Amino acid sequence: MSACLLCGSGRFSPQFQASDRLYRTTARQFAVVRCSGCGLLRLDPQPSGEELREYYPPAYWFAPGGQAASRLEEAYRRAVLRDHVRFVEQALGRAAASATKPRERFLLDVGCGGGLFLRMMAERGFRGIGLDFSEDAARLTWQRQATPALCGSLDHTPLRAGTFLCITMFHVLEHLPDPRIFLIGAHRLLVSGGRLVVQVPNAASWQARLLGRHWNGMDVPRHLFDFRDCDLEKLLESCGFVVERRKYFSLRDNPAGLASSLAPALDPMARRVRKQKESGAMRLAYDLAYFSLVLGALPFTIAEAACRAGSSIMIEAAKP
Ligand SMILES: [Zn+2]
Repeated sequence: MSACLLCGSGRFSPQFQASDRLYRTTARQFAVVRCSGCGLLRLDPQPSGEELREYYPPAYWFAPGGQAASRLEEAYRRAVLRDHVRFVEQALGRAAASATKPRERFLLDVGCGGGLFLRMMAERGFRGIGLDFSEDAARLTWQRQATPALCGSLDHTPLRAGTFLCITMFHVLEHLPDPRIFLIGAHRLLVSGGRLVVQVPNAASWQARLLGRHWNGMDVPRHLFDFRDCDLEKLLESCGFVVERRKYFSLRDNPAGLASSLAPALDPMARRVRKQKESGAMRLAYDLAYFSLVLGALPFTIAEAACRAGSSIMIEAAKP
């Protein structure tokens, strides 16, 4: 049993048991509990660092190849990432207007994965570097996206304090045993007036409420915390940030998340990770079925986001 990250309470109520329904890296059951003090959801007990590594399969990161299918996938990924790019461009614009060192245009993407986001920012004139726990991810970012990347943790980097105008963390905090360490690290690395952009699944969304343990945003056992939008704001404020802007819709995450909740066996990433044997025709049929589900999920995900209950929450927060 551990104390709550947000309020320190040691009391909690068990919610449910769940296993790795998406990638099936383990058959083990994990307990999700709710803090009796503040309502924050978390895995308890947390798996050890060594165990956690086993729950991240080798094909977890996207690497574009030369084949037609891979080029098609990259085109899709670029199209749905424009949302993130636009949000960060706006954050960079505001940071440049208020920062003490506005001429620095550096961007740091924490949890850079395969590096496609950084590549898209570079194409728009923003120089950035990536950081990731995974050596594979950092290597892919260097080799395939021609963007520098470091392998490591945000609290142990060779980066100078007060260097970055903007730091991004898309779907990172919920994976960390202690998210505060990363937020304090980001605060140190930003210039005054710099912006942090974070995105996590929103446990207060309609999807989370309706689907419970079957909601894809839980991603047991990789997600150690299931934040609601209000939890994320509290956490950011406790680390010295001021929340400036919220966005509840993500074209990349929300419709696909609902599709994967309803049909985890069709999720393209999950099929790749599980090394499912498929003929070319089967693959096409699965992909088309999944894509139809994503399209069908759009109206619902737009409606929940319009009611500030979208299945992901993206926040721009300033370092005063
Ligand atoms: Zn609590």
